[in-house]
Amino acid sequence: MAQLADDCFAFGGRLMTIEEVLALIQERLPVVAGVETVPLALADGRVAAEDILARNDVPPFANSAVDGYAVRHAELAAEGETLLPVTARIAARISGGDARAINGAARIFTGAPMPPGADTVFMQEDVRLEGGRVVLPQGLKAGANMRPAGEDIAAGSVAIPAGRRLRPQDVALAAATGHASLPVRTRLRVALFSTGDELVAPGEPLPPGAVYDSNRAMLGALLRRLGAEVSDLGVLRDDPRMLTERIADAARDHDLILTSGGVSTGEEDHVKAAVEAAGQLVFWRLGIKPGRPLAMGAVGGAAFVGLPGNPVAVYVTLLFVVRPLMARLGGALHEPLAPRLVRAAFPYRKKSGRREFVRVSLAQAPDGVTEARKFPRDGAGVLTSLTESDGLAELADDVARVAEGDMIAFYPHGLLW
Ligand code: AMP
Ligand code: MG
Repeated sequence: MAQLADDCFAFGGRLMTIEEVLALIQERLPVVAGVETVPLALADGRVAAEDILARNDVPPFANSAVDGYAVRHAELAAEGETLLPVTARIAARISGGDARAINGAARIFTGAPMPPGADTVFMQEDVRLEGGRVVLPQGLKAGANMRPAGEDIAAGSVAIPAGRRLRPQDVALAAATGHASLPVRTRLRVALFSTGDELVAPGEPLPPGAVYDSNRAMLGALLRRLGAEVSDLGVLRDDPRMLTERIADAARDHDLILTSGGVSTGEEDHVKAAVEAAGQLVFWRLGIKPGRPLAMGAVGGAAFVGLPGNPVAVYVTLLFVVRPLMARLGGALHEPLAPRLVRAAFPYRKKSGRREFVRVSLAQAPDGVTEARKFPRDGAGVLTSLTESDGLAELADDVARVAEGDMIAFYPHGLLW
């Protein structure tokens, strides 16, 4: 299995843009996930481990797209109606391969194989029957209402590219092209910790000075939605020796170790020293807000990411840094999140040179345009700014102020996983 290089996260002290983060992830990190085969029923959400080729044409044979009458276009009169005897009846069913050429017209049903030589189908609504003959109107083009073999996809071509995270429609195409199971990447094994002496588990009493550990609940849910196998390893106390031991231990059987909190520069922020003792660590200064320095490291072949402690910073950095990092380690193609443009209904001042994410809700303005209204309390610690908003508005790096009426990028919460 591929290994992380010790210096894979090295980056000179400048503020990094998200684009630089993505490029560095693609260039420096290996795919670490293995390969396993799963039945189609379990393939949704998994990552295709190789190009999946169509084993057969889809459709496998030329067939009718409608209920009607199949004919040879060359038999039709150049002018006016054509009368043809109805000489066969073909339904959609497994036929034993006895398709015979027809003279005249064949009564045919949707999905039934075209008789040899027939190339055009009249819809039943467009014809009349007179005795045993069908009266066909003028003007239908050759090939109408007929689906040629391989029209959807030809045997041998790539049905699903390696690295695609499989969606229900991909699973359908795999079935149509003859696959009962697919080779997929093994799930990334992610070790998840919270850090901080003030944290207690929900359900426990809340002593003075304590807060409930909420990051782990959010991160566990996000990581599972991203397809990871999550080991919830609890809270690490602000004790350098124990931190080092637990992190080194987790590195043995995980691909990625994720912590939140303890990466600022305060005296009680011990994660940095612990990772340095167990492996290699660098700080990334990201040009985004929220999401201050991120601790990135390699510990015994596992990747390490130390997220900030504040919940909104956790959310933003998970989506814009950890998500692409996990895609790379897990062998998935990076699919950038596609924001939509909405109109800002608020003025805003920000520092140029960093990208800012503010929580907004959408509403339709009287002129019909969708506008974004900023959540009033926008601190990085305000969890309700995530629960009571519709998504994140992204304010571009090089912008110092947003005026009411400016168009801004919006990522709905649901889009983010
Ligand atoms: P830190 O970076 O450790 O100083 O944490 C920054 C802020 O986030 C502090 O207010 C912490 O109490 C809070 N915080 C850190 N980890 C968690 C967590 N797992 N759940 C809830 N709040 C946290
Ligand atoms: Mg802390």
